[in-house]
Parts: sequence; structure tokens; C-alpha cells
Amino acid sequence: MSFEIKKLILDKIKEYDRIILFRHFRPDGDAVGSTKGLREILRLTYPEKEILLINNDYSDYVSFLGGEDQDIEDEKYSTALGIVIDTATEERISNPKFSLCKELIKIDHHIETKPYGDLSWVEEERASASEMIADFYLTFKDELKINKDAATYIYTGIVTDSGRFRFRSVSGETLRCAAALLDLGIDTDTLYAHLYMKDFDALKFQGYTYKKMKRTENGVVYLHVDKAMKKKFDLTNEEAGASVSYMDSIKDSLIWLAFIDSDDGSIRVRLRSRFVTVNSIAEKHNGGGHACASGATVYSKKEMKTLIAEADALLKQYKEQNDGWL
Ligand code: AMP
Repeated sequence: MSFEIKKLILDKIKEYDRIILFRHFRPDGDAVGSTKGLREILRLTYPEKEILLINNDYSDYVSFLGGEDQDIEDEKYSTALGIVIDTATEERISNPKFSLCKELIKIDHHIETKPYGDLSWVEEERASASEMIADFYLTFKDELKINKDAATYIYTGIVTDSGRFRFRSVSGETLRCAAALLDLGIDTDTLYAHLYMKDFDALKFQGYTYKKMKRTENGVVYLHVDKAMKKKFDLTNEEAGASVSYMDSIKDSLIWLAFIDSDDGSIRVRLRSRFVTVNSIAEKHNGGGHACASGATVYSKKEMKTLIAEADALLKQYKEQNDGWL
């Protein structure tokens, strides 16, 4: 079924001389990997076209993949095709100039809440948007060109967004896509060194979080990285946000939450879970995302407590109605 939409996207790409790629703000490995991967594929295949990746922010975590492009004059957007990857809603697109593009294509794997774009290819069951880019390449591999760099970008997106092939969303298709990319000669030693190496100071922060995390009656584990903690460890928002993964393997704790103070007074929430679906809670608090990985924003400590109580009630209900969880 997706062949038709993929064909429409390829035909659109062929129609335009300038294509600008976009992704969500606060980019992760998937947002960066999928856009950089598609940029490389399109540059190799259509050297006569101008293929640009223009956004406003940057991710330290995947900075080893290299940078993006300089911005161009607004008029040049108006004759371009825009392709937005890995971004559920227009509000989350990092570069607001996407709206100047002549036409817009959405390629995404998040739960669809607010559709946008002239063409939209959304597959919610995909483990990553990078997997969709790999699939797009494989569907048209007689026409499209790829190289080791493109394969590395896309593979990075696949491995980071799937928790190194661990998450429930990983399917046979994920592994087939990854296998095809590996065949192109990716240097996985270097890639995993980049993904796993930690700064000494970051490890000290990790140790501190174990003292500070709390647990609710029914097993929701949470951590509030407040302004003081950010200052104490000189943390960027990205480094503070990484703390959510420190809580991901605690017995009986099927939901874990990181609250990160922002400079503007709001508190960013990262929700993660095993088995239990948490995106409904995120949606109640200015957010959304996947069943077991969502993001939200709360605006006071009171709202933070409310969200924790909602998560606790959800986990209580889940434990009462299910068994077999760990
Ligand atoms: P985060 O904890 O911010 O990495 O978010 C986890 C997942 O939820 C990511 O896939 C995000 O794209 C998605 N997400 C985060 N915030 C929002 C939001 N406000 N609306 C929709 N999806 C979100």
C-alpha cells in the first residue's frame, strides 16, 4: 500500500530543482540521521539539484555525523519542495520557514494527531523515520544512489531510535533495512564508540541522579532536574534530558519520567514506559509521541505533581489488570 505514496514522493522530488529538508527541534539521532541520509541519497542521485538541510538547532549527541547547511534567502524557499522527516506536527518543525516552501511532504513514524503537508507518508508502526528512509531507498534502489556515509547516517537513526534494536517497534522489516545498510560497509566500531562514550563529568551527574530519583506508591520512578542541579553539573538541556534513560531498567517501575527545568520557567517532561501506554498522559500536558516514549511540557510544580499522580494511577490500573510484567 505504501508503494503508491512513495512513488508520488519520488515523482515530486524529480519535479523540483531545489529541495529543503526539515526535522523536529531538539533533534535526536533519528531526526538527524534520516534527514542527513536522505540529503546524501538525493545529492548523489541528482547532482544537478540543490538539496539542503536547514534547521535552527543542533544536537551534541549526534554531532559526530557532521553539520547541516547555511540558511538561504526567503525567496529561494518559495520555489522549493520541502520534506519534513520525523516530525509529528508543524509546531515541532525546527525551521519555521518550512511554511514558505511551494509544496510540503511529511515522512514520519509518530502517532498522527495533526496531519500536515501536501503529501504525507506516515507509518506509525515503524521503529524509526530512518527505517522509512532506508525503505524508500530500497524500494527505488535501481534509480537512487547511496554510499557509506548515507548508510551510516540512516543506520545511526535506526539504532538510536530503536534502543539498539530493543524496542517493541522493531520488526523483521527493521532488521532487513538495517542489514541492507550494513552491507554497504558501515564502521560500527566507531559508530558505537561515539554513541557510548561519556564525559567524566556526565558520569558524575549520572551517579548523582541515582540518589535523587523518587518512586511513587505504584512504582513510577521520576527525577526532577531543577535549575540548581543543572547549575551544579553545568548541564545543557540535552545532557539534563539524557537522565531519563538512567531510570529505564528498574524492576516494577514500568513508567519513568524526567522533568527538566527550562530557562523560561516551564518544565519539560520526558515520559518512558515498558508495556504501559503513556502518550495519553503526554497529550493532556501539551505533548504527545509514541506509546512508550512521549514528551510533554508542564508549567508549574503543581502540574508536575498532577502528571506524576496520573502516571501512578495508570500504572496501578495496569498492574491490576495485567500480569507477566517485570
Ligand atoms: P522526548 O522525550 O522529547 O524525546 O520525546 C519522546 C518522543 O515523543 C519523541 O519521539 C518526540 O518526537 C515525541 N514528542 C515529544 N514532545 C512531543 C510533543 N509536544 N508533541 C508530540 N510529540 C512529542
